[in-house]
Amino acid sequence: MANEGSQRAIATGSTAIPHWYDPDGDVPTIVEGEDATVYDDEGTAYLDFQAQLYCCNAGHSNDVIVEAMTGQAERIPYVSSAKHNDARSALARRLGEIAPGSLSDVLFAVSGSEANELACGIARRVQDAPKVLTRWQSYHGGTYGAGSLTGDPNTRATLERHAATTGAGKFLPPLPECFDADSPEELAEQAADHVEFVIRNEGPDSVAAVLMEPVGGTSGAYPAPPGYFERLREICDEHDVLLVADEVITGFGRCGEWFGVDTEGIRPDLLTFAKGVTSAYVPLAGVVLDDRIGETIRAEEFDLGQTFAGHPVACAAGLAAIGEYEDGLIGNANAVGPHLESRLRELEDRYEEVRTVRGRGLLWSVVFADPVTGEPFHDSFAGDEGENPVAAVRSAAQERGALFGGGRPDDQVIVSPPLCVTESEIDEAVDALAAGVEATF
Ligand code: PLP
Repeated sequence: MANEGSQRAIATGSTAIPHWYDPDGDVPTIVEGEDATVYDDEGTAYLDFQAQLYCCNAGHSNDVIVEAMTGQAERIPYVSSAKHNDARSALARRLGEIAPGSLSDVLFAVSGSEANELACGIARRVQDAPKVLTRWQSYHGGTYGAGSLTGDPNTRATLERHAATTGAGKFLPPLPECFDADSPEELAEQAADHVEFVIRNEGPDSVAAVLMEPVGGTSGAYPAPPGYFERLREICDEHDVLLVADEVITGFGRCGEWFGVDTEGIRPDLLTFAKGVTSAYVPLAGVVLDDRIGETIRAEEFDLGQTFAGHPVACAAGLAAIGEYEDGLIGNANAVGPHLESRLRELEDRYEEVRTVRGRGLLWSVVFADPVTGEPFHDSFAGDEGENPVAAVRSAAQERGALFGGGRPDDQVIVSPPLCVTESEIDEAVDALAAGVEATF
């Protein structure tokens, strides 16, 4: 029996009304957008500091992307994914150029969930090993396989109620609350040692890959402490385990470089992408593979294509979006990112309910906790006991004209504006968030 939320989702034609919005229904019906602003059906403007689902990186209604899509649709809208198409080949080449190191072979998919499943299928095949390890407090998708890779308890609980999961092993994220470290360096060491322990415990020969977000996305915009990824790369090499970067949120300038791994200076063996590749104007996703893995896959005639993988209209959008990122949007993200960080850190100093502010580039989380007990609000206010005040903060900010995202767990406000955002828009949105905090506590 569908619950109230999903019945409402069916009634409004939405497949995924996010659970973090007020259940009484203050979700605006978005009908138009331009740059960092969206408009609802009553003409109310909102600064979109969620970039919808952390994906409209080029902002809304970007003419260059829309024209590229229209042009492709006029030439030929669809070409079989088993045949060649010029837009598809050009995008594959371009992705190989911007991806780090020897990652240059591209396989397309449709969604981020499918890209992660594809990457894991490839890793399992080339390593001839069944297990893929992921973090608790992670999000890798909602389909059967990708939901199993996800370390967010809500997603897993939904899957486990309805189907068996694939049993992907889990390890702790490199967050201070998960370890007993006195410094970021110690945290990096303890958290990486813990991953090695889990690999040894599972049996290195049975582990094909470790999959993780370079900076946690909806699971809390948390960057790893310095040295963590470097050590993790060494551990993976020592145990002949592949490292897969889930760049579904962190890719395409979100963290200030092309990919999140670039901000860490590490080279994964496989990299998955979706969302920002087309600025979400049309669905597209995929996997970029290290040359060596690409050769193995080609030699084995790996044949797992999907009808809509690498859709020509999406590929045209992707090429145009990458052009826009290169022609100034990543530069703008780097120019305004420090202003966003300092404005958010003011909230940390000003309000005792703000436990921490963390993130990178234009991906940030404002994490809340009860100032008396130190406990996250989402636990103490869950269910019938009342509204989670963090959801109330977001609703109050929305009433003041700024949309923000919710996290998993929902003790945080996720801040992720389009890369075209200006400093004055940042001021306006952070002021709305601050007013939301004051209206709530
Ligand atoms: N990976 C990460 C890091 C994500 O944040 C998401 C979605 O938010 C996914 C994978 C799944 O992507 P999709 O919703 O396109 O299947």
